[in-house]
Amino acid sequence: MSIEKNLNSIKSELPASVTLVAISKTHAPEIVMQAYDNGHRLFGENRVQELVSKYEVLPKDIQWHLVGHLQRNKVKYIAPFISLIQSVDSLRLLKEIDKNARKNDRIIDCLLQIYIADEDTKYGLSNEEAIEVLESDAFAEMKNVRVIGLMGMATFTDNTEQVRLEFRKLKKLFVQVKQKYFTDCSYFNTLSMGMSGDYEIAIDEGATLVRIGSNIFGGRPYCAK
Ligand SMILES: *Cc1c(COP(=O)(O)O)cnc(C)c1O
Repeated sequence: MSIEKNLNSIKSELPASVTLVAISKTHAPEIVMQAYDNGHRLFGENRVQELVSKYEVLPKDIQWHLVGHLQRNKVKYIAPFISLIQSVDSLRLLKEIDKNARKNDRIIDCLLQIYIADEDTKYGLSNEEAIEVLESDAFAEMKNVRVIGLMGMATFTDNTEQVRLEFRKLKKLFVQVKQKYFTDCSYFNTLSMGMSGDYEIAIDEGATLVRIGSNIFGGRPYCAK
């Protein structure tokens, strides 16, 4: 299957209310261009260095999302151009994003990443920690970040019922947070959940944005660290 066919077939299945972020991590710029030439403009990466090097060589009308863990000392590299940081997992990180956004005279959109999986390896805030961030004085004072929703990754398992319940919990939190902190804010509208293996379930459970890599670009080459 070609990238073009993969993209077209995924897009034809998605409801109009769901946005597709093509996760291009580990794939070379020439490969990303195949999706670009097919009209796709929204891509996501999970590592800052790789994101910046693709940003530099690829067309400037691409919108880039960061979906992986972000270290505070790397925020400065993406602050000038990033369109959405999906992986905010601490108040300290959000402060750093705010500071760098101000330096660049921008407002940077962010999602709070919520820990929903039954695994030790995934980053994210607990529900309580997310509430703490939203209720903090520090957050109230930030002028250059805008929290537009939540992101989560389900457990990597064949147990689709478990995955469904994890997404359902995240949707429930999303609704509560919207009601309590963003009632009149139409910009708080993004629920990012679902990857190649589980995006259909995520959409059933209310995702507005899905992050799909391997179903578009094929398997990722293994890279020794
Ligand atoms: C890699 C990655 C994806 C895409 O994964 P696929 O299974 O290849 O679709 C989605 N979200 C995050 C946070 C990722 O790191």
